Amino acid sequence: MSQPALQPVPRVGLVGWRGMVGSVLMQRMSEERDFDAIETTFFSTSTAGKPAPKITGCKVFDPILRDGNDVNALKTMDIIITCQGGDYTKAIYKPLREAGWKGHWIDASKILRMDDDAIIILDPINMPVIKTALSKGISNWIGGNCTVSCMLMGVGALYKAGLVEWMQTSTYQAASGGGAPNMRELLVQYGALYAEVKDLLDDPASAILEIDRKVTAKQRAFTPEETTNFRGIPLGGNLIPWIDADRGDGTSLEEWKGGAETNKIMGLGSMFGTPEIPIDSTCVRIGSMRCHSQSLTFKLKKDVPLADIEDMIKNDNPWAKFVPNERVATETQLTAKNVAGTMNIPVGRVRKLAMGPEYLGTFTIGDQLLWGAAEPLRRMLRIIQGDIA
Ligand code: NAP
Repeated sequence: MSQPALQPVPRVGLVGWRGMVGSVLMQRMSEERDFDAIETTFFSTSTAGKPAPKITGCKVFDPILRDGNDVNALKTMDIIITCQGGDYTKAIYKPLREAGWKGHWIDASKILRMDDDAIIILDPINMPVIKTALSKGISNWIGGNCTVSCMLMGVGALYKAGLVEWMQTSTYQAASGGGAPNMRELLVQYGALYAEVKDLLDDPASAILEIDRKVTAKQRAFTPEETTNFRGIPLGGNLIPWIDADRGDGTSLEEWKGGAETNKIMGLGSMFGTPEIPIDSTCVRIGSMRCHSQSLTFKLKKDVPLADIEDMIKNDNPWAKFVPNERVATETQLTAKNVAGTMNIPVGRVRKLAMGPEYLGTFTIGDQLLWGAAEPLRRMLRIIQGDIA
């Protein structure tokens, strides 16, 4: 398998740029001046023919939005970056390759992640895997599951050191993990819940149980139109302990991804001829806007002093931030409010657990739209161009 040599200024097609991941990607590409060294063409599945968006720093090659479903137009690109979603990948990727396209496909969706000719990209953690694949002519670069990527950016050092015997995680995942419409729906629900009890809240003498009763009644009365994005369940003031498809074996697809993707990112498992590390999760959607958090339990292969673990986390990559296991540091640094919109991946609550010295507890949080989605995609573009080694 081989790709054609890359043009000095490659033609890059961007699909899905107005969605949640796509918007963050555009912002990051502007900040990092990624547009300087590419010729950009914007594609849309809904508004082809309209003017291309004006994005800071981006001199568009084509001023018109091209049709994201037009294989002939896509074929003229050297590199395609798509944040359009899984249905788009399912519909377009195969016909495009069948039409002879040999360019680089960089994708935020899950569809191709586990394919043998695709690499899950998270270069601060798996650059050796990416480099080996590049040298072999692989050209499918897929962003990982957001929770997995954020987790590995925080505690990847333990995996790299071969210390993990197994890991269990309980996640707390924000509405934005579902996309732009899900965030809007959550806020509208919060507004409706507030409006329901505003008069009572304005009266300091009103009974809290009456407020609580009215909020619960309103949650139960939301219409299907008000709850379309989380399958009829209101997320405002609520939580949903199931994310993505039901695999029929008591686990959700999101939970399966935790084990399958972590191993693939680390270059472990049957694809690489090595045993997998057992990883299991319970994935929960919560009513926050942005950032996925997770409580992690590790069984390590040996008793490693906490000071050494702290050093490993601090030294692994510039974005992992060790948070001392103290109340104030935790309350101020290990929250969605603190992390949203930043590249930092704080790791805190690091302590040995009651089960024994090999058992380690940690809590980590990351902006899943950055390291969990957009950032690995834009970095892969720069890796292909030889700008990140
Ligand atoms: P999204 O916000 O729903 O956007 C996807 C597409 O939906 C847009 O490109 C746009 O396409 C269309 N769209 C429909 N209504 C929209 C609205 N009100 N505002 C903006 N766009 C709207 O989805 P996403 O969260 O970015 O996810 C894209 C892909 O990334 C998915 O495969 C997802 O699984 C994956 N991913 C998401 C996250 C995350 O945290 N959200 C993390 C990792 C990976 P048109 O312009 O063509 O209409």
